[in-house]
Amino acid sequence: MATPTSIGHVRSFHGLASFYRMFVRDFSTVAAPMTVVIKKNVPFSWGEVQEKSFNTLKERLTQAPVLALPGFEVMSEVECDASGLGIGAVLHQRKRPMAFFSEKLSGGSMRDLILTEAHGGGLMGHFGVDKTLAVVMEHFFWPHLKKDVERFCARCIVCHKAKSRLHPHGLYLPLPISNAPWVDISMDFVLGLPKIKHKDSIFVVVDRFSGTLHPV
Ligand SMILES: [Zn+2]
Repeated sequence: MATPTSIGHVRSFHGLASFYRMFVRDFSTVAAPMTVVIKKNVPFSWGEVQEKSFNTLKERLTQAPVLALPGFEVMSEVECDASGLGIGAVLHQRKRPMAFFSEKLSGGSMRDLILTEAHGGGLMGHFGVDKTLAVVMEHFFWPHLKKDVERFCARCIVCHKAKSRLHPHGLYLPLPISNAPWVDISMDFVLGLPKIKHKDSIFVVVDRFSGTLHPV
């Protein structure tokens, strides 16, 4: 098959190849340079990486393994790999592949995946920033890693829920009944009123005993 010379060619090759993606290990990662080319509103450009991607994919398609048919009496295993630019998985039984799965990840979602794993995935116990950072740094590093970890931990919903269980805000209780004037007052601001003499707010003080309103 000749090297594609137009977006249309790339699209049809990619489409056909996609049909067999289940037979190709790391399909998404291998095909990634071509998916860039077939994006909308991008002029056709074919470089070295595309050529390599095209050839690798052709090669893998022609040498695609014969996939085993699943047998339900045999244990199936899933082998995952997220070390490259994407995540890949192979479903196999008795070491014979039944299907390949792959997803190319952008830099951002790859990092999110790593942070999710390091902070709360698997056996991780939603540790704080320092511990999470240490776990990530055992295998990875990228610029502003610490900031990303801090942001991730601060946004973790599970951690938020756990914290509010530890420090409950308590219930809203009715205020005690006052028994003398000007002992128990409440105050509030009323803001954003139409301006009168350059002023647009009212400071409201209420004496809770008498119920008198004292706008200032
Ligand atoms: Zn958490």
